Amino acid sequence: MSVQLPVFQPEKSDRFARRIERARGAPLRAGAVTTLQINVGKVCNQACKHCHVDAGPARTEAMDTRTASACIDVLARGKIATLDITGGAPELNANFRWMVERARALGAKVIVRHNLTVQFEPMQSDLPEFFAANDVEVVSSLPHFDAAATDRQRGGGVFEKSIAGIRRLNALGYGQGDPRRVLALVHNPVGAFLPGSQSALLAQYRTELGEKHHVTFDALYVLTNMPIQRFKHWLERTGQREEYEQSLEDAFNPATIDGLMCRSTLSVSWDGGLYDCDFNQMLELEVAGAPTIFDVDLDALVGRRVATAEHCFGCTAGSGSSCGGQLT
Ligand code: SF4
Ligand code: SF4
Repeated sequence: MSVQLPVFQPEKSDRFARRIERARGAPLRAGAVTTLQINVGKVCNQACKHCHVDAGPARTEAMDTRTASACIDVLARGKIATLDITGGAPELNANFRWMVERARALGAKVIVRHNLTVQFEPMQSDLPEFFAANDVEVVSSLPHFDAAATDRQRGGGVFEKSIAGIRRLNALGYGQGDPRRVLALVHNPVGAFLPGSQSALLAQYRTELGEKHHVTFDALYVLTNMPIQRFKHWLERTGQREEYEQSLEDAFNPATIDGLMCRSTLSVSWDGGLYDCDFNQMLELEVAGAPTIFDVDLDALVGRRVATAEHCFGCTAGSGSSCGGQLT
């Protein structure tokens, strides 16, 4: 029998919770978990300006073997369809390849948030072959098809290395319409504004990357920059925080609510904490009752009230935003 979890109580000041209740006549609730998203830690070979994880080469937080095993146990027990592995650069975690192989053996689809340049780190040059051997779906950030714009956000030389990484994946059949070799790119605005339309950007990316760099990909996910962590600090330093947050709130679109990723995803932190999404994880806004991957009862999570705060307006602004791109 499932143990009843405490219910999340939003702050009185949570305008997002009020907005949802006005739009739906009910709070935001999650359904069954269909994706387990594991953030294996903050270690990364890059240190991008907009990073909501605050990841980088100097970080040390990393999921250990006991926690990784508990994640795979929950995946198996819950017959969860998709394992989505993120970080940091998840490939740098010692348990990464084991987790991918175990999840595939269980029949789960595996998605990896792969930053492309990690392929050029020591011991990682065979990553494309590893992905292909395990039918891993690769999702890679490339904020812009313009080299200078991408390098401004992700660091000098990142664009060129990323293109080289895409070429390696293309050579193994990724990005060419094969459902077992999916390569999706991720665009987010290089600045404090809402992104353009996903379909228009997809056409531009295809033309620019195809004609100038001779690379292909399957999909483009367009994301809104969340006003948290490094991007929030940048907004504060440049005096744009209030205006940006207001623009997200003003662009609230109720049609995005059904597709919000927190309704079907359970996010696990490197130390086994549970969250409604990776953004809440970074803000330490836990699932009510603070269950962990070691003691979670998945049935008890169904119908839970999602923990929200002002940053959530980033997911409902305009066409919406999720790990799989725009929502409407
Ligand atoms: S955005 Fe991705 S690649 Fe960049 S520092 Fe953060 S985790 Fe690393
Ligand atoms: S930030 Fe997380 S909890 Fe808030 S709406 Fe987006 S996915 Fe849901």
